[in-house]
Amino acid sequence: MSLRIEPFTNEYALYLRDESRSTGEAAYIAFPSDEEAIREALSFARANGLPVTTQGGRTGLAAGAVPHGGLLLNLSRMDRISGPERSGGTVLLRVQPGVLLVNVRKYIEGMRAEYGPLFFPPDPTETTASIGGMTACNASGARTYSYGATRKHVEGLRIVLADSRTVTLRRGAQKASGRKLDLHCDDGSRIALQLPSYRMPSVKNASGYYIEDGMDAVDLFTGSDGTLGVVTEALLKLTSLPEQIWEVGCLLDTEEKALGLVCALRENCRLASLEYFDRGALQVLRDRKRWDASLRGIADVPEHTASLIFAEIHAGSREEAFGELRKLSACLKSCGGDPDATWFGWNAADIRRFQAFRHAVPESVNMLIDERRRKEPGITKLGTDMSVEDKDLRAVFAMYREGLAELGLQSAIWGHIGNNHVHVNILPSSMDEYRRAKELYARWAQRVTDMGGAVSAEHGVGKLKAGFLEIMYGPQAIGEMRALKRSLDPAGMLNPGNLFPPEG
Ligand SMILES: Cc1cc2nc3c(=O)[nH]c(=O)nc-3n(C[C@H](O)[C@H](O)[C@H](O)COP(=O)(O)OP(=O)(O)OC[C@H]3O[C@@H](n4cnc5c(N)ncnc54)[C@H](O)[C@@H]3O)c2cc1C
Repeated sequence: MSLRIEPFTNEYALYLRDESRSTGEAAYIAFPSDEEAIREALSFARANGLPVTTQGGRTGLAAGAVPHGGLLLNLSRMDRISGPERSGGTVLLRVQPGVLLVNVRKYIEGMRAEYGPLFFPPDPTETTASIGGMTACNASGARTYSYGATRKHVEGLRIVLADSRTVTLRRGAQKASGRKLDLHCDDGSRIALQLPSYRMPSVKNASGYYIEDGMDAVDLFTGSDGTLGVVTEALLKLTSLPEQIWEVGCLLDTEEKALGLVCALRENCRLASLEYFDRGALQVLRDRKRWDASLRGIADVPEHTASLIFAEIHAGSREEAFGELRKLSACLKSCGGDPDATWFGWNAADIRRFQAFRHAVPESVNMLIDERRRKEPGITKLGTDMSVEDKDLRAVFAMYREGLAELGLQSAIWGHIGNNHVHVNILPSSMDEYRRAKELYARWAQRVTDMGGAVSAEHGVGKLKAGFLEIMYGPQAIGEMRALKRSLDPAGMLNPGNLFPPEG
């Protein structure tokens, strides 16, 4: 069936934005429901000289799916899952890119009787993220602390390139030799790729192309912000769900104690995740809870709480889980925390409540930004996504606190502190504050780079952080990334503006 490519009208205005709260423009929109339709859409774009922006769930925070003209390729109708298949001892699912994470989870739950308890560990908090978007961003989330980001759970990919050729990748089958990768397309043709020469930092990182000597081609397309091809299928590797999952929330009265606890827990406990919320984030949630009935089920946090640390324990038995809990309690005491000021959850309903809490904080902040945008439409979300090495945790917090205090800006900080990766959300109320906040953010990007950190640890670079990517890797590396993209997409048609400004 031929694909309908419609001129863009206001009816589709929703599709011009993502969760970064920035808005774009488009000339056409198409909703392909299979790979052939994507190839057709790309050939239409080539014939008409149009840029193409690919969209999944539009939950991205870096404006990667926000179009700057041309054709909007929305993959929400590519929503089928097939499998499971077994490969050795591994259970795999073949998933189209528009499938939402929430539906992958439901599907896996439905397999339980036959395959036992399994899960797909990447958890970007927002379950309406799509598998295509998660793959393009190499999304992570809380459990990445112990299970790794999306890349680690992708066993294979199908890609449509800008010229409509397809590539089928299976982990281990197409590998680079040093920094040269000979990409085999499904029609038998080959594309010689020269990979950039930079070295990635040894921190959690989703900034620019994943590059290393002898790398797997799956890893190049994963986390490429949709700039090298359109993901039309991902082969996901499932993991056994541990028998015991326990959640602990530690309420602390100073941030210093919280940082001490993080260091102690990292050293002494085996945790699946280690998450953080500061006073500012808890206050935004508290303010919203006063009038938003949908948040009624979310726990109240006492006003004197300065920091809330969530630790998740995954264990094979109750005894093992108790052992970790005892160690956690000892760490808490040694850091001056109060073991009585803790939340505890161990059954499915508790875990859902903890997850709902973790989701409610960023949602409340995003809604606050929407409110501010009604007065000042130029304001967008200004949330950092930077990571540093363990040794720099305190230094990076000191840097954030100093900068915020100096400019007197409201903020909310939360995130994946186990990986020294928190989101500092600056909440400007005027364009003047917004401009100052952006300058501060750029200064932080430079200092994090100087510490050997990454400017994006999980959200991807998209359009909003292209400047920071150049700060992190420098102009030569950007030139090499551009050259790599040109080998696969000579006209720069796919997701122009993501990672680096479009050529010309
Ligand atoms: C409340 C909230 C909390 C969040 N927390 C986290 C978190 O903890 N960790 C985290 O990693 N992220 C988090 N995110 C961000 C977001 O959920 C992730 O970035 C997610 O991976 C985006 O998926 P998506 O389907 O919405 O992608 P989109 O926003 O639609 O697109 C993101 C990028 O992927 C590209 N893309 C989409 N589909 C394809 C495809 N099939 N082929 C090629 N390129 C494609 C787009 O062009 C774009 O560049 C959060 C978002 C929200 C709203």
